[in-house]
Amino acid sequence: MSSANLTDAGLSGGVALVTGGSRGIGRAIVEVLAAAGMSVTFTYLENAAAAMEVVEANKQFKITAEPLDVRNAGGCSELVEKLVEREGKVDLLVNNAGVIRDNPLTILEEEDVRLVLETNVTGAFNITRAVAPHMIAARAGRIVNISSVAGEKGGRGQTNYAASKGALNAFTRSLAVELAPRGITVNAVAPGVIETEMSREVRERAPEAVLSRILLRRIGQPADIAHAVWFLASRYAGYITGEILHVDGGFKME
Ligand code: NDP
Repeated sequence: MSSANLTDAGLSGGVALVTGGSRGIGRAIVEVLAAAGMSVTFTYLENAAAAMEVVEANKQFKITAEPLDVRNAGGCSELVEKLVEREGKVDLLVNNAGVIRDNPLTILEEEDVRLVLETNVTGAFNITRAVAPHMIAARAGRIVNISSVAGEKGGRGQTNYAASKGALNAFTRSLAVELAPRGITVNAVAPGVIETEMSREVRERAPEAVLSRILLRRIGQPADIAHAVWFLASRYAGYITGEILHVDGGFKME
């Protein structure tokens, strides 16, 4: 590859689907991919005002917002069929939608366990099962799952969340094996502590303790994750599959 090609990531004209793009990390992913020239459809659960704000703030780009609960398999299929009808293909799927409900195991409510596993794991299954046949038919595609350092590193009060992200890592590796013969790569990005609504409580409760565990001594920004997704979606990452890329400022090593 000549260095002249380094300005073209190969994303322009591509079609991306991002789950949970109304806020936080998902929003940054939507904005980066759209700025790279992709037509981006993102989903949200219930926060329609935030979703519309993302579309409004990025009017110069091709961005569409769709309500979807990723726990609903039928809804996932319908959305993907509608998207393919409109765009003709899906080049990139980003499984970003996720929730957290931390508590020590003995006081975890059954609903906290179910909600986290059904959103973070079953949700990824539902939307990926709807998208994969289209990528298989095209013999091309990229899938990027947003995992977490919690998938590999133990954390107090995080049994449900850690189990969901550990499952997502295992899902990533096995799906990479299955889809490699069809020209599709499957990878994950595992964020550390990123400045979003999801991490607000832990950042506010013990800011110094959190920072002291991050080698680079700063909280991550949603754009830090979005740029890693951009890389894995780009033509520069065509030889990477089944990888869990930690973007955590060195958190997992502390
Ligand atoms: P936020 O809570 O800021 O945003 C969550 C997004 O997911 C929103 O768009 C929300 O929609 C959507 N969502 C939630 N439940 C569902 C559902 N059932 N169906 C469809 N969409 C849903 O989270 P973050 O941006 O912080 O996190 C994004 C991802 O990154 C998650 O997978 C999370 O586990 C992971 N992560 C985050 C870290 C952090 O420090 N922030 C660290 C490690 C991993 P709505 O706006 O409508 O509610």
